Amino acid sequence: IFFSINTNMPVVDIDVASLPKQLFINNEFVDAKNGLKYPNVNPATEEIICEVSEAGEADVAVAVAAAKAAFEGPWSKVGPYTRSKLLWKLADLIEENLDFMATLESLDNGKPFCESSNADVPLVIQCFRYYAGAADKLTGNTVEVGGPLVDDTFTAYTLHEPIGVVGQIIPWNFPMLMAAWKLGPALAVGCTVVLKLAEQTPLTGLYLGKLIKQAGFPPGVVNILSGYGAVTTDGGVGAGLAILRHPDVHKVAFTGSSKVGRIIMRECANTFKRLTLELGGKSPNIIFPDADLAAAVDGALVSQFFNQGQVCCAGSRTFVHEDIYDEFLEKLTIAAKERQKLGDPLHEQTTQGPQVSLEQFNQVMNYIELGKQEGAKCIFGGCREGTKGYFVQPTAFVNVKNDMRIWNEEIFGPVMSIAKFSTMDEVLHMANDTSFGLASAVWTKDLGTAQYMQKRLRAGIVWINCYSVFDANLAFGGYKSSGIGRELAEYALENYTEVKQVCMKSHPSFK
Ligand code: ADP
Repeated sequence: IFFSINTNMPVVDIDVASLPKQLFINNEFVDAKNGLKYPNVNPATEEIICEVSEAGEADVAVAVAAAKAAFEGPWSKVGPYTRSKLLWKLADLIEENLDFMATLESLDNGKPFCESSNADVPLVIQCFRYYAGAADKLTGNTVEVGGPLVDDTFTAYTLHEPIGVVGQIIPWNFPMLMAAWKLGPALAVGCTVVLKLAEQTPLTGLYLGKLIKQAGFPPGVVNILSGYGAVTTDGGVGAGLAILRHPDVHKVAFTGSSKVGRIIMRECANTFKRLTLELGGKSPNIIFPDADLAAAVDGALVSQFFNQGQVCCAGSRTFVHEDIYDEFLEKLTIAAKERQKLGDPLHEQTTQGPQVSLEQFNQVMNYIELGKQEGAKCIFGGCREGTKGYFVQPTAFVNVKNDMRIWNEEIFGPVMSIAKFSTMDEVLHMANDTSFGLASAVWTKDLGTAQYMQKRLRAGIVWINCYSVFDANLAFGGYKSSGIGRELAEYALENYTEVKQVCMKSHPSFK
């Protein structure tokens, strides 16, 4: 794996009774208005960890009102330097609790502790520090106006102002990291937030509420809701949909499936909410015959099996040149066996945990079945692992044809599809022949090949001789059905600001 793993970090005992399990609104933990709760399941054991409050329309209304009051009141008076200090303080608090947060993430999501402690939580900390640094560096432009309607008495400039109350809806695959990607830029520019967590993984997000209060953010600036998307468990409007429909929410940021992305876009049309979408992918990982084969095999493993394959930018279409095809398959099969250690996510040797939920487990198993029916050949895996917990063996299919559903649809699990290619233009055509365009990767020692491919791949990310490299300063987002807009880096700041032009004419009073 590309990051160095610190195995000295200890898994922490979690006292479930003392965890925040209610909605975080106005800096207080409160029950849902209608008292609804739902069970939160441990995907490794299928046991219930605890019950958490389930937000509905009425809770969203209270949270949006709190966010609006904070935006118009105290938060509007908090300047960039103080916003920066608050974000930095939040990063410090998370760092002080790194082992705890990583353990909680692994318990709730099922991801191996070595990943949550070495990747997820450190990236969360970096993200908040990045946006702490950005908060007091926002600038607009001074503008020369000189069109047919003006003379030299005009001066103009632009301001980048916070949009206001923003609604953020996140998925379960990187619960805390997705919260950080959303909160960091929004808070840096001075927006206030109603964040809805994924129903499958509420625990680190709610705990973040506790740390946000401790860091000193004023009440109402960040409100965090656990709950469902479209419908509540008693048949009401779900918290996600209620955010999309609320007239006082002026911007929505969503990460999740392309299917739900379409619904979100339609809903946001009603009130013209600003919208950024980070959606699915079916990313090509292309291995040329001159590649460092050992590195490419490692990269392919990471690309598909990292986080149980529950990664929007997973390299789920692997292209291997015919000259190295047989050798690659052989090495990949051995590496998958040696490196993918399935088991208790809290055990330090584990490198692959369970899928996040029964629903996801079923989806992945159905795709594996479908792959077999479609005539693809399974070269390893293909089965459930064990009888308890939602574990799926790392799986790879060859002889995959481009009209097969496993080749075209996002499986979101540890299932790789592999195809053979002969020429650069052939592989380029196949790689771009998809409705998605999130990530891509090229493995080669030849700069010319890398450059040629990099220019022509229709995707928001091109990794060259690496895969799944995340950094707060690297823009993340997709072409085509993979989304709209970019997260992280400077680009994310634009997502949360309106541009105001100020045009001033001078009327000197002294002659
Ligand atoms: P996945 O398929 O990865 O589970 P989804 O796209 O279904 O992801 O969900 C991502 C997030 O969107 C979750 O927080 C979920 O509750 C929310 N969500 C799902 N459906 C809707 C909807 N119709 N309106 C608003 N939010 C939704």
